[in-house]
Amino acid sequence: MTNVASSEAPAGQNLYIDTRGCCEAPVPFTEAVVNGLAQGGGLYVPERIPQLSLDQITGLAALPYAQRAAAVYRAFGIDLPDEEIDRLMERSYGDNFDDEAICPITSLDDKTHVLELWHGPTSAFKDMALQCLPQFFSASASALREAGALDHEFLILVATSGDTGKAALEGFKDADGVRIGVLFPDGGVSDIQRKQMVTTTGSNVQVWGVRGNFDDCQTGVKRAFSDDAFARRLLDEHAVALSSANSINWGRLMPQIVYYVSSYAELVAQGKLEAGAELDVCVPTGNFGNILAAWYAKAMGVPIGTLMCASNENRVLADFINTGTYDISDRPFVTTPSPSMDILVSSNLERQLFELTGRDAQAIAGWMRDLSEERRFRVDADTFAKVRADFAADSVDNDECLAVIREALDEHDYLLDPHTAVAYRVAQNLRGENPVLIASTAHWAKFGDNVYRALHGLDAGAPLPDDVAKLTGCQLNELIARETGGRAIPAGLASLDTMPVRFSAVIDGDVESIKEAAAGFLTR
Ligand SMILES: *Cc1c(COP(=O)(O)O)cnc(C)c1O
Repeated sequence: MTNVASSEAPAGQNLYIDTRGCCEAPVPFTEAVVNGLAQGGGLYVPERIPQLSLDQITGLAALPYAQRAAAVYRAFGIDLPDEEIDRLMERSYGDNFDDEAICPITSLDDKTHVLELWHGPTSAFKDMALQCLPQFFSASASALREAGALDHEFLILVATSGDTGKAALEGFKDADGVRIGVLFPDGGVSDIQRKQMVTTTGSNVQVWGVRGNFDDCQTGVKRAFSDDAFARRLLDEHAVALSSANSINWGRLMPQIVYYVSSYAELVAQGKLEAGAELDVCVPTGNFGNILAAWYAKAMGVPIGTLMCASNENRVLADFINTGTYDISDRPFVTTPSPSMDILVSSNLERQLFELTGRDAQAIAGWMRDLSEERRFRVDADTFAKVRADFAADSVDNDECLAVIREALDEHDYLLDPHTAVAYRVAQNLRGENPVLIASTAHWAKFGDNVYRALHGLDAGAPLPDDVAKLTGCQLNELIARETGGRAIPAGLASLDTMPVRFSAVIDGDVESIKEAAAGFLTR
């Protein structure tokens, strides 16, 4: 059943429907971005997936990245003026990235291309979306305020296990009409990750360590979000509503579609790909956002062949793609060298299933109910066939992941981070005739401890030698850089030991403590 909406949008404008068929009416882009999650718990998707011709796609190579992004956004018919989209993209993708190409492609051989998504301010691929979403979030909120549809500002609260928090802080710092507070497990993130967060600049930011683990942080934040009395108090006393910046926001997905469209154009322009030839894409996957963006690029007309889903030992997605059953009923959560892929419930898979079922909101609602009640769901044979038509999947265990880092350095003099290493191996295992674009999601220097283990033949999880264990994250990176022939470390990571620490508060992880801390931040 297709969720058909009575569209009242102006010509060229696209509206957003939701994956569970709960919204009364479709909403424009600005509202989808500000709302984040749709009413009833579903996710927003565009009513219409715009189509680009091959000429339109390859023609993008003549433009700087910011203009390529603006062109893709305009194709999606968003309800902001064209000039404003241009302006917001200039700010999203400028000298905040350390490479003019924004996400340059390094080719390891004729048919293996690495898309480096980590040239942004925090050296992780989350920057590609989180340098852009806040621009559009502020602009959307301000447009809605001017139209009289909004009379408050926002507090973004993020619980992080490491990478997302810093990328969100960098993206939202000094954004108009928004404050951002980030909670991380005290003692549960790396030295580099902690320093990245507690040294963040900006006048609208706050960072708290939380006594407990990541689950405690996340549960506390979720409880604060579902506390209606707290929401009323924030609105009454501070004219602020809570919001999240997580990867279910459509405004975080769209910037990711852009780099797949752009990369195809780029490879053709560089003479590495025949216009119209198929390109396979291999993505190290956690929440399914990045690979879903590649699927949307394909649906828009980019000649993408197989979408390869690369999992670490938390292989629920690889198993789903290979069996049609998503099952976490008896699946332990495993710690791996690629922590940003350590996820059991992949929220963006819901959008993918919505699209593959021909937008059957009823089926999605049923499967999501099965998942929450029985911890598993199984898709029907038709849907499974559609999954198999677009996707292939494989997984890599912890020790192999580290072996891959060593191997790629030996063979290509290229240093992979552990997340990209998982994708590199899966691309080797699954590739056919087509060239492969491997999404590289982090700079190696964000995960120096495991890169060190890899280079010294230590097992994943093995203790570092005493003299290495006592180094700061920055010192360890310098050591690795020296040992591998004088590799560059991104400026934002290299300077962390000398940056002043701005935030040192540690709070309890219960919801009352989190609410108190958040309210205190607003009165400051
Ligand atoms: C978030 C993240 C991923 C997973 O991306 P999804 O969009 O959640 O699938 C992979 N690698 C790194 C380094 C990340 O930060």
